[in-house]
Amino acid sequence: MRLSQLRPGEKVIVTKILGHGAFRKRVMEMGFVRGREVTMVLNAPLQDPIKFKLMDYEVSLRKSEANLIEVEPIEYWESHPDTHPRPGTGEHDAPAATDDNDVFRKDKIINVALIGNPNCGKTSLFNIASGAHEHVGNYAGVTVGAKAGSLKYKGYKINIVDLPGTYSLSAYSPEELYVMRYLNQETPDVIVNVVVASNLERNLYLTTELIDMNRSMVIDLNMYDELERSKARLEYEQLGKLLGVPVVPTKASTGWGVDRLLDTIIDVYEMRHSDVRHIHVKMRPTIEQGVNAVKDLIKDDPSISENFSPRYLAIKLLEGDTEAKDLIRHSDSREKIEKCRDAEAARIERDLNEDVQSAIAADKYGFIQGALAETMEGDTLKEEKTTRIIDAIVTNKVFGFPIFFIVMFLMFWATFRIGSYPMEWIESLVGWISGLIGEHMADGPLKDLITDGIIGGVGGVIVFLPNILILYFFISFMEDTGYMARVAFIMDKLMHKMGLHGKSFIPLVMGFGCNVPAIMSTRIIESKSSRLITILINPFISCSARIPIYVLLIGCFFPNYGGLVFFLLYFTGIVIAVLMAKLLRKFWFKADETPFVMELPPYRMPTGKAIMRGMWSKAQQYLAKMGGIILVASIIIWALSYFPRYEASDVPESFTAAALADTPEEIKTELGEEKLDELVLNSYQQEHSFLGHIGKAVEPVVRPMDFGWKTTVSLLAGAAAKEVVVSTLGVLYVGEDDADLISERITTPSPLTGQTPFTQPKALAFMVFVLLYFPCIATLAAIARETENWRYALFSALYNTALAWVLSFIVYRIALLF
Ligand code: GDP
Ligand code: MG
Repeated sequence: MRLSQLRPGEKVIVTKILGHGAFRKRVMEMGFVRGREVTMVLNAPLQDPIKFKLMDYEVSLRKSEANLIEVEPIEYWESHPDTHPRPGTGEHDAPAATDDNDVFRKDKIINVALIGNPNCGKTSLFNIASGAHEHVGNYAGVTVGAKAGSLKYKGYKINIVDLPGTYSLSAYSPEELYVMRYLNQETPDVIVNVVVASNLERNLYLTTELIDMNRSMVIDLNMYDELERSKARLEYEQLGKLLGVPVVPTKASTGWGVDRLLDTIIDVYEMRHSDVRHIHVKMRPTIEQGVNAVKDLIKDDPSISENFSPRYLAIKLLEGDTEAKDLIRHSDSREKIEKCRDAEAARIERDLNEDVQSAIAADKYGFIQGALAETMEGDTLKEEKTTRIIDAIVTNKVFGFPIFFIVMFLMFWATFRIGSYPMEWIESLVGWISGLIGEHMADGPLKDLITDGIIGGVGGVIVFLPNILILYFFISFMEDTGYMARVAFIMDKLMHKMGLHGKSFIPLVMGFGCNVPAIMSTRIIESKSSRLITILINPFISCSARIPIYVLLIGCFFPNYGGLVFFLLYFTGIVIAVLMAKLLRKFWFKADETPFVMELPPYRMPTGKAIMRGMWSKAQQYLAKMGGIILVASIIIWALSYFPRYEASDVPESFTAAALADTPEEIKTELGEEKLDELVLNSYQQEHSFLGHIGKAVEPVVRPMDFGWKTTVSLLAGAAAKEVVVSTLGVLYVGEDDADLISERITTPSPLTGQTPFTQPKALAFMVFVLLYFPCIATLAAIARETENWRYALFSALYNTALAWVLSFIVYRIALLF
C-alpha cells in the first residue's frame, strides 16, 4: 500500500521508500523513515497535495511523491507480531546512509516485477503465486497495464506486479514504454525475468537489456515442460553463472518450481546468492568505445547517474531511443551528451557500415548465441509436431474459414441451447422464491419493492448466468489453446481489405464476452488509427450482457429456430462492424499499413484448473454486477414507476373511457367492475408515474418502430448496463401472479386492450436496436480512457444510436410485411 492511498485519519507505518537518490534523501530528511508512524490528515481541495502528520508535526507531500512511500496499516504489524516484528523506529536508519538500498534490506517486504516477452507465462505465474484470477491467453498482448498481488512466504511479504509482455525495453509500442517507465519509476527490489525455455534465443534478448540496467534479478526458465519434451538439454545452472543471474526452471501452468523461484528471489534480495554478479554484455570494441564515451559523460552528472545505470542509458541513447532522450532532458550536461552521442553514433556507422541499432542488436544476439552454445545441446527451435499438424488444418486455405465458422456457430448454439437447461432450473428457483414472498408477506410498498423491484429486476437477469459462462468458456478456450492467434492470422487478409490488421480481430472476438476488456486489449495494435477504428467498431460486437435480451425474446417469439436467429443477430453486428470500419478508414483516417507481426505460439492445452478458475471469476463478476449496478438500477426503476401514488379517485373519467375503449364487452363482463377498476388504476399509475412521464417524453423518437413507452424506458435504462434492459422490462410488466416469469408477462395480452407488449416483428426490431445502440457506461468510459479523448466516446454513443434507429426501422417495416 502506498502513502498516497490513505483516507483522512488513517494511521500507518512506513515500510519502504521507493524512488531514487535525491528524492529519497529529501523525504528521509523530512522524517519519512522505516518504522515511523504517519497519519493522513487531509487532502487539499484538488486532492493534491496531501497533508500528513508525523512525529507531532505536519508536512504536505505531492500525491506523486506520496506514491513512492510504501506503508502498511498499523493493524498489520499488530496482528502479526511474531512473523512480522514491527520495524524499528528508524532512528538508526539515519538519513545519512541514503543512497543504497542496504538500510532497507532488513524489512520483510520484497517488491517483485515480472518482466518477459509476451506469452511467456508471466500471468500464469502471477496467478499461481498470488492466487489471483488474471486473464491468461496463449497469444501476445493479453495483459494490459500492471496487475498487483501479494503473498506471504517464509516470513516475507512478497508483492508481485504482473506487467505486459515486451520484447525489448524501447519506446516502440505503448507496452514497451509502459514497462520501461515502470522499471525506471517504481524500482522493484527484484526483477523476475520470465523466459520461455523452448525459445531462449529470442527471450534472452530482453535479458541482456535488463543486465545492462544492473538490477537485482532472477531468471525464471518457464515452460520447462516443453524443454523436457524436446530433445534439447540445457545446463541452466551453468547459464545462470555465465549471465550472473540465477536461473530457476518452472512450469507456471502447474505450479512446479514456483517455491524454488520464491526461495531464489529471497536469496537474491538478501544478497546471499552465489550466482549473482554484475557482468557486461560485451559488444564489438568499436561499439564499446562509443558506449564508454557516452557513459563517462553520464557518470559525471549525478542528477542522471543516481537514477539510472549509466551503461544502460548510454546504450539506449546510442540506439536513439526517444524515452532515453527524454530522461536526460533536464540535465545540465544534456547538450554535451547529445553531441557526444551523435558523433559516436556516426563513427560507429561509418566504421561498421551498419546502423547503430542493428549493430547493437546483432552483438547482443551474438552474446546470447555464445552463452547458449556453452550450455545447451540440441535444438529446441523445431516446432512441435502436433502444432504443425493442427495448423495445417485450421489455417488451411480451404478449411480454415469453414472451421472458424463452425467453431463460432457451435459457440452460439451451445450458449443458447445447452445454457437453456440450467437456466430453467434457476428460473423455477426464482419463481418459487417470488411465490413464497407473495404468499407470506403483508401487502404494501415493501412487498412491492421486493417482488416487483428486486426479484422482478435482478431475478429476471440472474437466470442467464449459465449462458454467459458457456460463452466465456468458449472464448477462453480459444485464447488459451492458441487458436485465437490463428484466427487473427487467417483473418489478416480480410481485415486488410477493411484497412485493419489481423490483430484487430482478437478484440472483436473478445467483445462477444465484454466490450470493456476487448477495448483495452486493442493496445496490442501498434498503429494508432487501426487501434481507433477497432475501438469504435467494438460496440457492434454483441457482448454477453445483451444475451439476456436475446434469449428472452427469442425464447418467446422464435422458439423453433432460436439458434439461427441468435447467430444471425451476432452476424449482423459483425457485418455492421466491418462496413463501419471500411467507412471510417475511407473517410476519416488515412490509410496506414503496419506489417503483420504476430507470433503464432505453439498450441498449449489449458489445464482444467485454469479454466475452472477463469469461469469462477467470471461468475463472481456477474453476481457482483447483479448485486451492484443491476440491483440499484432495478430499485430506481421500480421507485420511479411506483411513485407518485394515485387513488382510484385520481383517475379522470376521460382516462377510464379511453382505456376501456378497445376492451371487448365480453371481457368487461368477465372481469367484473371491481377488477376492471383495478386494472385501469394500475395502468393510470404506471403511465403517470415519474418513469411514465420520462418514457412518454422520449417515446415519439422510437414511435416508427411502435416500441411504446415501457420499452423505451428499458432502452434508456440500458445505458447503465445492458442487462438492465431486461430487468426494467421485468419491473414494468408486472404479472398477474407474483410467480409469473418475465417470458410469460411479456407474451400475455393486456386484459384491457387485448394487445401483447411484443409481437414477432417488434421483438426483432427491438433486438436489432439493442444490438447496435449506444454502449453501456462502462464501455463509453473505456473508449474515452483508451483513446484519451472523450469526444470519441460521445461520437460512439451518437453514431451507434443513429445506426440502430435506421436499421431497426428497416427491419421492423420489412418484418411487418410477412
Ligand atoms: P503472459 O502473456 O506472459 O502473461 O503469458 P500467460 O500467463 O498468459 O500464458 C501464456 C500461455 O502459456 C497460456 O496459454 C498458458 O496456459 C501457457 N503456459 C504458461 N506457463 C506454462 C508452462 O509452464 N508450461 C506450458 N506448457 N504452458 C504454459
Ligand atoms: Mg499476461
